[in-house]
Amino acid sequence: MYKEPIFLSPVYQKRIWGGQNLKKEFGYDIPFEQTGEAWVMSALENESNIVKNGPLANKTLLDLWENHSELFNKNNKNDSVYPLLVKILDANANLSVQVHPDDTYAREIEKVPYGKTECWYVLNAREDASIILGHHAQNREELDRMTKDGEWDKLLQTKKVNPGDFFYVPSGTIHAIGEGIMILEIQQSSDITYRVYDYDRTDDNGAKRELHLEKAKEVTTIPHKSSEFPRIRECVEGLTSDTLIKEKYFTVYHWILDGTVTHKLSADFLQVNVIKGEASIKVEDQSFAIQKGDNFIIPHSVQSFQLVGNAEFVVSHITE
Ligand code: ZN
Repeated sequence: MYKEPIFLSPVYQKRIWGGQNLKKEFGYDIPFEQTGEAWVMSALENESNIVKNGPLANKTLLDLWENHSELFNKNNKNDSVYPLLVKILDANANLSVQVHPDDTYAREIEKVPYGKTECWYVLNAREDASIILGHHAQNREELDRMTKDGEWDKLLQTKKVNPGDFFYVPSGTIHAIGEGIMILEIQQSSDITYRVYDYDRTDDNGAKRELHLEKAKEVTTIPHKSSEFPRIRECVEGLTSDTLIKEKYFTVYHWILDGTVTHKLSADFLQVNVIKGEASIKVEDQSFAIQKGDNFIIPHSVQSFQLVGNAEFVVSHITE
């Protein structure tokens, strides 16, 4: 039986809106001048995380998912693709305004297994930073007219953000992360994005990025439905756990550790992202130091573990 947390090394993505904050904040060894994303839980082909420790070292998360189903308690399930993807994003400039399809549209039109519902935990935000979440069009005609006439300020709903904020972005929601924000994103494992508006930006060659307005309008929820969830707080020993969301695809918690807690695994497996502080995790007799920037999976074979220290975590799992 495998009795260790599975530590993963991130995969980095170059983005025109990226920067250097993933290095400054998390000490990541980023390869690009404009690194936009660290994929910290990814089992996508060619972009899968590599295991850092133990007998599974140097294997990919994809390999584990496909060949070590006991780690995920996958036996009776037919998930052929690891269902979630977790990223840390450094929005050094505005991200394009975009929308993602749901599972049905993704399967029928794009021939991929999942659409994309996502959620964001705000790690850092400049004082004046904001996001776009939703739109003001009341019907399809209004959406058509406002996109055609470029009335973006009138169409798009903006929101100021602060560190610690959490946002749920179901498929069909028009959204964009604004300049000066770092977020941890938990999403369905899909990358189907329809770009609605890109601030008329051009690249080094004077070219604009492609827009996908027709598909975007087909998948957008009209009128916008806002989704907010009350945080449910639970305190056990040295751990304060807020449930940020429990929906169809994922359940997400924010944990504050101040002292010691023994935690029993209540999901098939856990995805753990350390976002602040230092601590240690103990499984049976073995103890592992953990710190801000570490990302690991608690496999199904670890039924209980102890955390000791002062740290914050975003913890997630598939909703069963
Ligand atoms: Zn998105």
